[in-house]
Amino acid sequence: MTLAIHNSLSRRKDPFEPLVPGKVGLYVCGPTVYDSIHVGNARTFSVFDLVVRWLRATGFEVTYVRNITDVDDKIMERARERGIGIDELTEATTANFRADCARLGLLAPDAEPRATRYIGPMLDLVAHLESKGLAYRGANGDVFFAVRDFPGYGKLSRRNLDDLRAGERVAVDTAKRDPLDFVLWKAAKPGELSWPSSYGAGRPGWHLECSAMAGRELGATIDLHGGGWDLQFPHHENEIAQSEGASGKPFVRVWMHAAFLNMGDEKMSKSLGNFFTARDVLDHLDPVQGGEQLRFFLLRGHYRSEVAFSREHLDEAGTTLRGFYTALREVPPVAVGIDWSDPHAARFRAAMDDDFDMPVALAALHELRGEVNRGRSPQLSGLLKALGGTIGFLQQDPEAFLKGGVSAGGANSGQPDVESLVAERTAAKKSRDFARADAIRKELEAAGIVLEDKPGGLTEWRKK
Ligand code: AMP
Ligand code: ZN
Repeated sequence: MTLAIHNSLSRRKDPFEPLVPGKVGLYVCGPTVYDSIHVGNARTFSVFDLVVRWLRATGFEVTYVRNITDVDDKIMERARERGIGIDELTEATTANFRADCARLGLLAPDAEPRATRYIGPMLDLVAHLESKGLAYRGANGDVFFAVRDFPGYGKLSRRNLDDLRAGERVAVDTAKRDPLDFVLWKAAKPGELSWPSSYGAGRPGWHLECSAMAGRELGATIDLHGGGWDLQFPHHENEIAQSEGASGKPFVRVWMHAAFLNMGDEKMSKSLGNFFTARDVLDHLDPVQGGEQLRFFLLRGHYRSEVAFSREHLDEAGTTLRGFYTALREVPPVAVGIDWSDPHAARFRAAMDDDFDMPVALAALHELRGEVNRGRSPQLSGLLKALGGTIGFLQQDPEAFLKGGVSAGGANSGQPDVESLVAERTAAKKSRDFARADAIRKELEAAGIVLEDKPGGLTEWRKK
């Protein structure tokens, strides 16, 4: 069985072969830390978490790098607006980002380079490009990349220079030799964050940051590079130009791009204002179930298909997830190693190995869940848990998960005392006081608690 991954460069699913067999270097473009991430950003980061988990589950040794962009116009603007220092803003936003990722259940990357700590490698890269005639100083003091002098420009986004040129607005930037050239190093204006350099005080362009950090962390050629669909052009195209222009080697073997999360027909985005932050969404979900529920919602479609955000779909994802956990609660799993020749495991693997085809992989899990419910085999239940675990799902204690973050109530908690109401209802049923038993069920239901009567007079409860 071999893993095939859709490569944005070839526009095909190609068998995945890392440069060094068994070892994978993955670079994912991380957030610009001026504000909290929204659920669209969370989707892209969840997709690459899935990729890392699956690669590791199938035996690859993965070095996962996801950067933090902590220097940018928006950052400077926001710090000014809030009257705080840039460091204060980026530190706090980075801490929030990590907390959001933890709530979503995302793995921490192996390295999380911050742009402002890589100014040296960035300037080295600019000097290297200049020595090859690919970078020049513009009339305004900025340093630009000479796009027309790099022969492969446009190969990722399949644009040719003349089309690009025709699409350019005519506002001619006299600082550049060619309108398509992009900035590598921006000369500082008074009061702006800057670093000294032989080009004068300034700061790096966004594209330069990723090329320098990826090169420093993972070498000249990296196996996998990812981000959201919108990064393909110009960001990743420019990364290719810089990195390949300097090294003369292929920069990335496989480019992966995650499709958007939309609000209605539009991409969720900060600039359109049509967004929910991940933390806001999580705050409105059950504290125990919410992180896994949101991640499940973000990942249950194929990563190359767009998803529409809605409360209804989010609830639906929660219901499905609880269905899996209910099977695990009913049939306690035994710990098993995965036998990939088992038909369920094989179907699941074939789907995941086929460019991370989650809808098909999840169908295999649904089928397995049905079999667990019917046959009540602790081995199969164990397989369900283990397969879910390869992609970061179904690892919580089923009882605790299904009860959710509702406190069991009791004196002074302001919540119904669930345990004693359940006991009272059991007693009422025993004494054939069905009206009282029914009233208790309704009272709990109104508080969001669902009761399930089990054989032997036992009653279990969980949060709706
Ligand atoms: P940014 O901080 O805007 O650079 O975004 C961080 C990551 O989230 C990038 O990989 C973007 O491509 C990705 N992204 C932004 N908006 C969306 C969206 N609506 N759906 C999915 N990914 C997105
Ligand atoms: Zn990047």
